[in-house]
Amino acid sequence: MTEEKNNNFIEDIIETDLKDGIYEKITTRFPPEPNGFLHIGHAKSICLNFGLAKKYGGNINLRFDDTNPITEEDFYVESIKKDILWLGFNWDKELFASDYFEQLYLMAIELIKNNLAYIDDNSSEEIAKEKGTPTQPGIESIYRKRSVEENLQLLADMRSGKFEEGSKVLRAKINMADPNMHFRDPILYRIKKAYHHRTKNDWCIYPMYDFAHGQSDAIEKVTHSICTLEFIPHRPLYDWLIEKLNLYPSKQYEFTRLNLTYTVMSKRKLLELVQKKIVDGWDDPRMPTISGLRRRGYTPESIKNFCEKIGITKRENLIELNLLEFCIREQLNKIAQRLMVVKNPLKIIITNYPETEELLESENNPEDPISGKRTIPFSKELYIEREDFEENPPKKYFRLAPKSMVRLKSAYIICCDELVKNENGQIEYLLCSYFPNSKSGQDTSGIQVKGTIHWVSIKNAIPIQLNIYDRLFTEPDTNRLEKDFTEYINPKSLEIINNAYAEPAIVDITNPHFQFIRNGYFTKDIQSSKNKLIFNRTVTLKEWNGK
Ligand code: ATP
Ligand code: MG
Repeated sequence: MTEEKNNNFIEDIIETDLKDGIYEKITTRFPPEPNGFLHIGHAKSICLNFGLAKKYGGNINLRFDDTNPITEEDFYVESIKKDILWLGFNWDKELFASDYFEQLYLMAIELIKNNLAYIDDNSSEEIAKEKGTPTQPGIESIYRKRSVEENLQLLADMRSGKFEEGSKVLRAKINMADPNMHFRDPILYRIKKAYHHRTKNDWCIYPMYDFAHGQSDAIEKVTHSICTLEFIPHRPLYDWLIEKLNLYPSKQYEFTRLNLTYTVMSKRKLLELVQKKIVDGWDDPRMPTISGLRRRGYTPESIKNFCEKIGITKRENLIELNLLEFCIREQLNKIAQRLMVVKNPLKIIITNYPETEELLESENNPEDPISGKRTIPFSKELYIEREDFEENPPKKYFRLAPKSMVRLKSAYIICCDELVKNENGQIEYLLCSYFPNSKSGQDTSGIQVKGTIHWVSIKNAIPIQLNIYDRLFTEPDTNRLEKDFTEYINPKSLEIINNAYAEPAIVDITNPHFQFIRNGYFTKDIQSSKNKLIFNRTVTLKEWNGK
């Protein structure tokens, strides 16, 4: 059954525009600043922008908004491209705002010539002070009355490097009393004697976001320029510049940015986590970055499905991390290879089992009939999880206990006959017996047991490391709390389990997604090697309940 999907409000706008013949073809863009890795919030914007271009047969540009040389690097450009491709999207043109620096400079000259911009010698503090408040008009700068000629000469001198950083800026001449603060003579250019990752040392003045973004859209003839709600107050300036410079009339539309519980979504904060080594790099599996999610075992489909579910609206909200986890869990249930892995092992000896070993069979994935079966060696000495044995079991305990019976998954029913303890009183191993006629699938024993536990054959077991990831923060919304966000890091966000053992099949299976039965969904970590197999827990089997 296919679900009828309702249009979001941007799709409604585009369909009306196309119907009215305003555009023959739409063009959208995704404009990351290459100052960090992409995160799941960017994925929402990517799904939207690439999705619209695809749905309406339009074009999509990948434009790097690289107008701030200090924080930008090629390294980030490469990571961004890799992540978009991994999500399954392809762009028509790869562009850089820095390629428009000359054009933008000419636009600045045009504004000056039209008496719509001037050079201000005030310091940034002075400018901020004169700006006024939303309820109080600002004060006009004493430099506002400079002549066109003087302004043109000063801009040329700014460009040629004559002035110190911070000594001059170019400002638009609009209205210092406008209720919209962005209209109070916004800064268009500032001096920055910094090396740029693409234009190198060609420039020492750089355009501000507002003087670069809209004009870049217009240069590229972007029809629908989609950004997040915090840019609503910037829209009048976006339109003003396009109008005054007589450019292609790109239009800006805004939607809600994604906020998720138990994580942070700003690149500045993510960078801080990386720099302070609170996490193990941008692709740490606890990070909400695309690369972190990939390393954690998320699939592109699960991320796209999540973006589909949250939808595109104009209402601010906070999305539950549980919803993202639901999306990956739902998919992994369908595709993950089942396997038995025992952590914190307890040895059991099946006293009535022969010295030989036998090969049992188990389904690779009961949800996927074509996934087939695998063989699992069974022998006299097995590991079970220490947690699956209770010396003094409470009522209704269905796992293993003295003199009680349990089924070993895909194998036999066993009974625990005796505990063997060391001199410290700790359990060393269990002596058990099995019922030869109780084999899974051909059980004629008539014995009823309520519990099934997993196990591995000791002599065939492969030692592995498990990285058990949990929420990175202890609080759902650190933005609303008083202390610095790093004060709320969950100290137990990573638990490393070194004493885990897997079925031997783990070595040869090519499916990257596993369900370690009863333990969760896992994927091999990128640092895993032949000599040291490491698996990351992607998500728990059941919905997280706050514990
Ligand atoms: P951050 O605040 O995390 O640094 P940003 O907006 O500065 O993000 P950009 O690289 O400028 O990051 O963003 C590229 C595009 O992705 C922009 O169009 C932006 O609106 C969008 N985007 C960024 N964060 C989110 C988010 N949380 N939800 C939806 N879209 C987002
Ligand atoms: Mg930005």
